[in-house]
Amino acid sequence: MKRAEAVAFGGSGLDRAAHLRGEKHVLDTLMRDSRAGVLPLWRGKPLLVADPRSGRDELGWLSGNSLALVGATSRVFLGLDGDAPRFAADVSAWQPDLLPDTLDAYRDPSEQRHPALPDTYRFSELRMAVPRLAPRAAELAATARAVLNWHRTHRFCAACGAESDISLGGWQRLCPACGTHHHPRTDPVVIMLVTRGNSVLIGRSPGWPEGMYSLLAGYVEPGETIEAAVRRETLEEAGIKIGHVAYLASQPWPFPASLMIGCHAEATSEAITVDPAELEDAIWVTREEMARIHAGAHPRIAAAREGAIARFLLGNWLADTLD
Ligand SMILES: [Zn+2]
Repeated sequence: MKRAEAVAFGGSGLDRAAHLRGEKHVLDTLMRDSRAGVLPLWRGKPLLVADPRSGRDELGWLSGNSLALVGATSRVFLGLDGDAPRFAADVSAWQPDLLPDTLDAYRDPSEQRHPALPDTYRFSELRMAVPRLAPRAAELAATARAVLNWHRTHRFCAACGAESDISLGGWQRLCPACGTHHHPRTDPVVIMLVTRGNSVLIGRSPGWPEGMYSLLAGYVEPGETIEAAVRRETLEEAGIKIGHVAYLASQPWPFPASLMIGCHAEATSEAITVDPAELEDAIWVTREEMARIHAGAHPRIAAAREGAIARFLLGNWLADTLD
């Protein structure tokens, strides 16, 4: 798919400068560089700052000695953005005055402002913010969120249980007791644009916003190809048999650590049998009906959320730009 990397969180060509990760003294020097910036994340929410000229959000880059970074943990070297060294750090230990009850919910519209920073800076949920971010900012924020979450949830060695140490600029954990190296995980998920003639298969999971339908998706299992996962998940969730499968586009989805693998799947059967454990409903919709859904003009069905690869794939299917 020629337009594949135009997806939200698509590749922006960030120079991750992996050769510098093992050079701790070089990273320490880069941290002190006047062009360096540290992106703090609080409970997975990156610091954003509004740019009144463009109406977009920028990432809230701080200097290493900012008061908002007091108590920060897990410094990660993200790479070089042009000549600007970029780091991320976890400031989840900070306690705002008010903890919103939407925190960690499917949609968290709450924003947290740190007293050491100007009012235009706030911690925002990345899923909702990504449509307002430039591709480079989205890639940096997604990388930071995924790696910092991994550190927060993988403190102890999976081989022997000892507490492990952060190493390689944040791209590895090393166990001092048994010497095992641990690397940040990324979980592959297939997401399927299932078509049959002029129709596409969409479904909704329990707990989704009212009326919202999207493409079917599921984790790739150990020992499985992408094609096999597409066929298995579609059959399990909706009872639909799949013939030809073709890769279209991928999307890093750091909620918490997925790589979405978008595929076109041609259905060879039509009768839907929903697995209620996975889906609340699944339906075939025609291209004309999907155009109305996509435009937000359908009376009952709401489109997949902006920024999600499902919406990107459906938009390209409607525009006939899948190749
Ligand atoms: Zn160990």
